[in-house]
Amino acid sequence: MTAHDDLSNAVTLGEQVYCSIQAAIADGTLTRGQRITERGLADLLGVSTTPVREAVRQLTQEGMIERLGPRKLHIANLSRTALNETDEIEAELQGLIAKFATRKATGADITKLSALIDDADNEFASLKQRLDEDGVVDESRAPHLFDALRDFHAQLVSIAENPILERLLNQTAALSPEQRATASQLRDPAAIKGIELRYPDHRLILDAIRSGDAERAYRAARDHALSAHGEIRRSA
Ligand SMILES: [Zn+2]
Repeated sequence: MTAHDDLSNAVTLGEQVYCSIQAAIADGTLTRGQRITERGLADLLGVSTTPVREAVRQLTQEGMIERLGPRKLHIANLSRTALNETDEIEAELQGLIAKFATRKATGADITKLSALIDDADNEFASLKQRLDEDGVVDESRAPHLFDALRDFHAQLVSIAENPILERLLNQTAALSPEQRATASQLRDPAAIKGIELRYPDHRLILDAIRSGDAERAYRAARDHALSAHGEIRRSA
């Protein structure tokens, strides 16, 4: 192995650890204000402290982790105002994702997005039917709906193909309540009703992209993100 290989592997691992810590903050494994150590994070993620140190340095620069002393670290404890503003930032970024995706989408991309929404429609229809008939959320099907919608949003990011925008979005998404809310939504009929209100947004975004209207796609995606956040923060 050359020195160069060694270096590029180290960079990759640091990057992976960075993403894992962001995901742990997003899904609530690490909570706001929680005291952490580089050793503890390394144990949690099953890696050595070297890539953790690199990831922590970056997350500290980005404001996700705060350093109070040489060995005193905690997950940033952002105020309610700061979190609400982060939601607004994320919504704007989601709008830009849709705008850039509109400019770059090929016919094949649009076919793929349509297929994902068609899948989601089927899952949503059967979930809704079960809910209306029996008043219960079919937990065996709900994850498929969330997967299809998550794929749809991920596909938009991939079509938008802008590394800087993607990086900023990951940064704000780690603070978003959305990921954590998803698990509880699976069991809560009231929350499913809320999703029902926002569900048609996905087709509005797709239609705007298909007709090449980047501004309309921007507004539809931004408003979709804003209404999701508003609802989740209210019910939290
Ligand atoms: Zn959505």
